[in-house]
Amino acid sequence: MTQAAIEITGLRKTYSGGHEALKGVDLTIPRGSIFGLLGPNGAGKSTLINILAGLVVKTSGNVKIWGFDQDLNPRQSRASIGVMPQELNLDPFFTARGALDVQAGLYGVPKSERRTDQILDIIGLSDKADAYARSLSGGMRRRLLLGKALVHTPHVLVLDEPTAGVDIELRNMLWDNVRKLNAQGMTIILTTHYLEEAEQMCDEIAIINHGEKVAQDSTANLLGQIDAKTMVITPSDAAQGTIALPQGVELTRRETGTLAFAYDRKRTKAEDILSAVHKAGISIEDVKTEEADLEDVFLTLTKT
Ligand code: ADP
Ligand code: MG
Repeated sequence: MTQAAIEITGLRKTYSGGHEALKGVDLTIPRGSIFGLLGPNGAGKSTLINILAGLVVKTSGNVKIWGFDQDLNPRQSRASIGVMPQELNLDPFFTARGALDVQAGLYGVPKSERRTDQILDIIGLSDKADAYARSLSGGMRRRLLLGKALVHTPHVLVLDEPTAGVDIELRNMLWDNVRKLNAQGMTIILTTHYLEEAEQMCDEIAIINHGEKVAQDSTANLLGQIDAKTMVITPSDAAQGTIALPQGVELTRRETGTLAFAYDRKRTKAEDILSAVHKAGISIEDVKTEEADLEDVFLTLTKT
């Protein structure tokens, strides 16, 4: 059997104040994917990521990284993963190059195998190699954090809310990097509360809320779970007449002159709406359906 990139079972974390941030999470993340861990603020995403990173000590449960049990093989499991944390935690007195070197040292990467220049190039900081972290802009610091996560060429790269509060240019740069690294075989895990981002970037998504996993599936399947659909019809002429619609279908006349029919695809067939429109004497110029987006999935699943 092929090992998973990450295998988590029964993971719990209760912070010292008594807050239960993770309430027994099971999560398997396949190798080679771009995997999204999605959830609202306070859901427990960073807690989970920080446990993977070894920054937070779990209360109970089992964590395997690239097949290595975190408790039984701490060195190998740590070497398999690189984490770009949500918080900026750079030492202001190191240069960009220095920060990467120190990190490589921490991970026991021999000098001859260090890829400092290559990483500076990947993160677009070659010309800032000798600038002190304190003199770098916020965006540059975040890029440096990404660089630090890459020094030991981990199998799994984890990005915790990498684009929260960053500008479009940096976001695009991050996504380019993520896609390239993934194409080279790196498994990518990213947390986000931006649904659109997960939708665009991730092959597979797990949704967590209040410390519990509420869904996990391929992005396409998650979107397919949603039964609420909208059919938008452009009539050839102004369509004024009343339409005898099947029960449960709601019509909204949009400003553009189009007719939007909201329906539940489990209850109503698209053709029934079309035939009702037809019977009302309205000729149709164009029909399209509007797909549900993750926002709907998210709202459905995180409702409490
Ligand atoms: P997310 O990353 O999904 O926004 P977090 O994992 O940061 O969520 O937080 C989950 C919950 O745990 C929140 O209610 C948060 O306030 C709490 N929490 C996070 N870190 C700590 C900590 N160090 N001590 C106590 N509570 C914490
Ligand atoms: Mg977080």
